[in-house]
Amino acid sequence: MIILTELKYTGTRNDSVSVSASYAVLKGICDDGGLFAPSQIPKPDLTLEELCAMDYKSLAYEIMKLYLTDYTKDELMSCINAAYDEKFDDKKIAPLIQKGGVGFLELFHGKTLAFKDMALSILPHLLKTAAKKQGQKKEIVILTATSGDTGKAAMEGFADVDGTRIIVFFPEDGVSPVQKRQMVTQTGANTCVVGIKGNFDDAQNAVKEIFTDKDLENELFENGFVFSSANSINIGRLVPQIVYYFYAYAQMAEQGSIHIGDKINFSVPTGNFGNILAGYYAKCMGLPVNRLICASNDNKVLYDFFNTGSYNKNREFVVTVSPSMDILISSNLERLVFMKTGAAETKKLMEALKSSGEYSLKLRETNFTGEFATKEETFAAIKKMHSETGYVMDTHTSVAYAAYEKYKAKSGDSTPAVIISTASPYKFAGDVLAAINGSTGNANAFPRLSELEKLSGVKIPAPIANLENEEIRHSNVCERNEIKDFIKNRLLNNK
Ligand SMILES: *Cc1c(COP(=O)(O)O)cnc(C)c1O
Repeated sequence: MIILTELKYTGTRNDSVSVSASYAVLKGICDDGGLFAPSQIPKPDLTLEELCAMDYKSLAYEIMKLYLTDYTKDELMSCINAAYDEKFDDKKIAPLIQKGGVGFLELFHGKTLAFKDMALSILPHLLKTAAKKQGQKKEIVILTATSGDTGKAAMEGFADVDGTRIIVFFPEDGVSPVQKRQMVTQTGANTCVVGIKGNFDDAQNAVKEIFTDKDLENELFENGFVFSSANSINIGRLVPQIVYYFYAYAQMAEQGSIHIGDKINFSVPTGNFGNILAGYYAKCMGLPVNRLICASNDNKVLYDFFNTGSYNKNREFVVTVSPSMDILISSNLERLVFMKTGAAETKKLMEALKSSGEYSLKLRETNFTGEFATKEETFAAIKKMHSETGYVMDTHTSVAYAAYEKYKAKSGDSTPAVIISTASPYKFAGDVLAAINGSTGNANAFPRLSELEKLSGVKIPAPIANLENEEIRHSNVCERNEIKDFIKNRLLNNK
């Protein structure tokens, strides 16, 4: 008989916190600004062989039930069934494609063409279920800072979901033309999008401060609202992402690249450290992973951290061709720091980060390798992959591929590798074409979709085929210090 024990979530800055999964999903972030983290990493009930034989939904259940222990089987299965359906344009949900000697795990077959769909198609269902379980009757307001992809994926997930509203903040000048157009054309009476004059970190910091503002919380509570988060600080984002690391492994075995039990490497294009952290959880659960290559663009805070032990955000913020990774404060790193050092030390380090912008921590770390790729290296990798194999990578995936190649050349490690492929090249068509044929300019990205179609032989994905002609529904812009007032106005005066 299987004895079900509840997995509790603790706070990364206060380990006396002990809450259920549904509470953590609903709340998003701890009162002290720390993140919820599982009190231990669970182990699967089934063998690796058994897990490798499953389809995406069954595997999702087997993995997620270990983390969301207070959800019933029916509750969790109905969340999974509602999420991973025909919204994805590939039956496998996350297919693995072998090209150029590696496997590409394509996580961009959902509605918004980026890997955020993997978690954000299920988060609204997890959250609504959590609200029911916790007896929460207020309207849930999702606040989200986005570097381009989360915002759209979250709005798609929450649009017209009863009992919820969503407000998204994006850096006005820091997203691709397709990303921006996807957001400002969003439908759904409960959605709201705001461009902010600042970068992603500004948006994320403002949103995090709002989550810890007790006065605001009370005022809104009196008026019938509670906040939650769709950012990867929410464990309801993180847990669904663990699934596809197992699924990638299964496909590597199925396609004959490895035998079950062999180790593999993953290279992950990293910004907020959410995707790769899910890979680390998978490794801790027993998935045979050798290295997790943490791939950065020119905002290479994490590369420096893994190589020197110093995390330092005091540097120029670079707007790159992989905007969804333009981040200097990688929030989810806090969960790794917590696993390595405990809550007391994490609290100290995060306070240092807030006050001075830096901290030092020498991780005697053999799981992660930090690498990075410059714009030139990112473009060169796209061009080379296309000319040698015909396969077209987007600018984020290419950072991971180029970083992997650098890692391999330096280390001589020839463990079979999977590149986590986070976006469709169509989302960044201007830069992808610039990489392949030297044509310049991102400004006029829309006519270029058909150019990319000819070059890649992959059809323009349905969700963006008509984007250019869709009505623009959102035109809000605000300064970074106006975010709080904007939210209050929106919720209190505009019910
Ligand atoms: C969000 C995103 C990333 C970075 O993922 P993190 O979980 O924030 O590290 C990479 N690529 C794309 C296309 C993204 O949308």
